[in-house]
Amino acid sequence: MAIAEITTALSSLSAATKILKSILAMNKDVAVNQKIIELQNVILTLQSHINSMHIEYNNLSKIKDEIKKELVKHKDWNKTKSQYKLKKVAPGVFVYSPQENKKPTELDHWLCANCFNDQKKSILQLSKYEERGKYYFCQKCEKEIFIPSDELKRHFDRSSRDFTKSIF
Ligand SMILES: [Zn+2]
Repeated sequence: MAIAEITTALSSLSAATKILKSILAMNKDVAVNQKIIELQNVILTLQSHINSMHIEYNNLSKIKDEIKKELVKHKDWNKTKSQYKLKKVAPGVFVYSPQENKKPTELDHWLCANCFNDQKKSILQLSKYEERGKYYFCQKCEKEIFIPSDELKRHFDRSSRDFTKSIF
């Protein structure tokens, strides 16, 4: 039942109540008046049920909107997810990196695997550079990863990109 139909039903019942009140005022027959009062009570009960339905309808409508939003979020995440792949950047250290067919304009970046599993996209930032390797920090979950220099070099030697030009 649409919201407009609920409103129409309630106003029709309200009009019926007014008509019954005017009949009650005009009519002098006690038995008929008794029946009119009974009918008024039936209408009141009906109004109460329709009001409850109205509240229930509003609640369901809110739930429907929330589910719709979740669905859109889910679809958006699936699209993002398809653009990345899990990559082992050092023994026991994993990140998500863009698929090879990424847009040419997109900068090289890695995403935090921890946040990725929570459906959050968080770019790992270089936080500390040492001769023995680099530390990358996730600002969302505050997790830090360390990648030894030889692993970084090996990783970039294998890729077609130039290590020195990389944002890493
Ligand atoms: Zn994270």
